[in-house]
Amino acid sequence: MPETLGPLGIFGGTFDPVHLGHLRLAEEAREALGLATVRWIPAGQPPHRNSPKISGAHRLAMVQAAVADNPAFQVDGAEVSSTAPSYTIHTLERLRQEVGPQRPLILLLGADAFAGLATWYRWQDLLKLAQLAILHRPGHPLDEKALAPELNALLKAHRAHDAPVLASAPAGKILSLPMTQLDISATHIRELLASGRSPRYLLPPAVLDYIQQHQLYRNP
Ligand code: ATP
Repeated sequence: MPETLGPLGIFGGTFDPVHLGHLRLAEEAREALGLATVRWIPAGQPPHRNSPKISGAHRLAMVQAAVADNPAFQVDGAEVSSTAPSYTIHTLERLRQEVGPQRPLILLLGADAFAGLATWYRWQDLLKLAQLAILHRPGHPLDEKALAPELNALLKAHRAHDAPVLASAPAGKILSLPMTQLDISATHIRELLASGRSPRYLLPPAVLDYIQQHQLYRNP
């Protein structure tokens, strides 16, 4: 891939459902890091959390609806289509094959996701394949007291202090990145829907339309 394409952002999650916190994270990371593209990758069977409440096909369709009007956002359905558990390391290996050894891959993680990184399959290998950008999230401070010792050590050893450092190499650095703080979670949206309340303005109208059309997240 030509160097002019710029870094590729990778944004995984259960997106159960996708909401404005996710969209602002991707948009602010795109601008701050000079990402040519953000590849959204809904997880199929996430190994580290409770199963998503609805099918991968629905979660994928909602992400497609949410990002349809942004030419810099692409949706990747590979994890949803696979029957194997979704391991980020395998996705990074696939994308590294796709883009070649030089292009920077930047894995975008909310601070809560980073705090759980040491439980991920082959987490020590992630930085061999990608850069990490940790986006701040309300209630999840990125400080020594809040982080596990092995993550503090990882942060200390690999920390970058500005965005150009991430764009200048294919992998190996971690950048902590502020973003507009939006206290929105998919859990809260599911709770609102299950109790018959409105999640309007917390997620894109096209996603809410999809949820209503398919009667998702209602209590059984
Ligand atoms: P749930 O409430 O079901 O756990 P969630 O809202 O945290 O879901 P995920 O799909 O688990 O959403 O998150 C995907 C990624 O987006 C993770 O890296 C997470 O940290 C990040 N993220 C989600 N919501 C926000 C937010 N409001 N601000 C910043 N980052 C966020």
